[in-house]
Amino acid sequence: MKCFHFLNREGKQEPQVSKMAMHFSSSTTSTDQDTKKSVSDLTSRNVSDMSTDSIGRFKFSRFSQRLNDLKIFKIEELKFATRNFSRSQMLGEGGFGCVYRGTIKSSVDLHANLEIAVKKLSRVGLQGHKTEVNVLGAVEHPNLVKLVGYCAEDDERGIQRLLVYEYMQNGSVEYRLSPKVSVPLSWAMRLKIALDAARGLTYLHEGMELQIIFRDFKPSNILLDEHWNAKLSDFGLARQGPTEGLTHVSTAVVGTIGYAAPEYVQTGRLTAKSDIWSYGIVLYELITGRRPMDRNRPKCEQNLLEWIKPYTTDAKKFHFILDPRIKGSCSVKSAMKLAGVANKCLNKHPKLRPKMSEVLQMVQCIFDDEKTEALQTLTPATEEKTVVRRKKRGAESKMRAGEVKMLCRGWASKLVRAN
Ligand code: AMP
Repeated sequence: MKCFHFLNREGKQEPQVSKMAMHFSSSTTSTDQDTKKSVSDLTSRNVSDMSTDSIGRFKFSRFSQRLNDLKIFKIEELKFATRNFSRSQMLGEGGFGCVYRGTIKSSVDLHANLEIAVKKLSRVGLQGHKTEVNVLGAVEHPNLVKLVGYCAEDDERGIQRLLVYEYMQNGSVEYRLSPKVSVPLSWAMRLKIALDAARGLTYLHEGMELQIIFRDFKPSNILLDEHWNAKLSDFGLARQGPTEGLTHVSTAVVGTIGYAAPEYVQTGRLTAKSDIWSYGIVLYELITGRRPMDRNRPKCEQNLLEWIKPYTTDAKKFHFILDPRIKGSCSVKSAMKLAGVANKCLNKHPKLRPKMSEVLQMVQCIFDDEKTEALQTLTPATEEKTVVRRKKRGAESKMRAGEVKMLCRGWASKLVRAN
């Protein structure tokens, strides 16, 4: 699913160029007028104006220091690195352009090669360039994909804007959950992804002086490195959260259908709780292996949230919604606990959703409970062995509803402690 622009409540579509404007724009007020103003303002401003603005709004010296660490690439270097952006090097395509695999010489060890991913921004993606450079170039966290550098050069073919990231060897979580892969992600790996992603989001929401709202949290924007660590990528839609004293940011609505929080879609009022909603959706994707909206399924199963409703709180029925590819190997109690967290994130009232650090604590508890198992199943290869072992034991199939309830009660007391 690609990101897109929703129709906002006034029925107007956000002009593409305004996307950049919304990122870190100063209009962190809560009026509708400002929304309209920022959209129309922005259409008349160029990208370099925006970049100055958005950099200027980061007031930390360490932020600007990190921006200085970014390597500025020449277009020729990146052409060479990606075999002239050959189709054979293409890793994927997002809302802002195509991403290619490439190799450059390491700046640390000149004899070593460094694998990179190069995003070649489309015309639409030009605004996203500055946002990504300003956000990703400024933040640093093990669960956020690292921006190595960028290219902003014009040649005979026009404006060239490229972003250079660390290469994430195991691709996106979307790909890993898809039927294209023969070895599915194990439950332990899914829990680890939920945990890593929660760490990344907690850092963005609560770990800095300024709050950053990711705005497009979904499995295609969670990438896996060679050690299966999950990192958030694609900050093209990120924006600064409300500043002190303000409850929300008013923006035109952008994001991805199926992931954006309902109140944000309806009102254009953005808070960090929109990301929490999206996180809840992703948890259910990890549990069920299904997408939030799947037109290829029978009508009553197309909408993930509607379909799971009757099963999520009933321990006897819960196994119906588990991803069939991991059913035999997945701990039902652990999956039910994670569904409990997802349900909290998917509260219709944004204020009642937990904040990201609370979500992180809950997921950490579930992960810790499963740790011993997870350590044995962190790679698909070992997972296969574990599936066989678990099937032999028939452990999960024998679990009685009463046992699950007890475990859930134990979990509830842990939640109280965590808060
Ligand atoms: P994006 O435009 O950032 O959403 O990227 C589109 C797709 O390209 C992703 O879903 C990944 O499959 C792939 N991709 C993006 N960045 C990287 C990276 N750093 N390493 C490996 N693959 C990537």
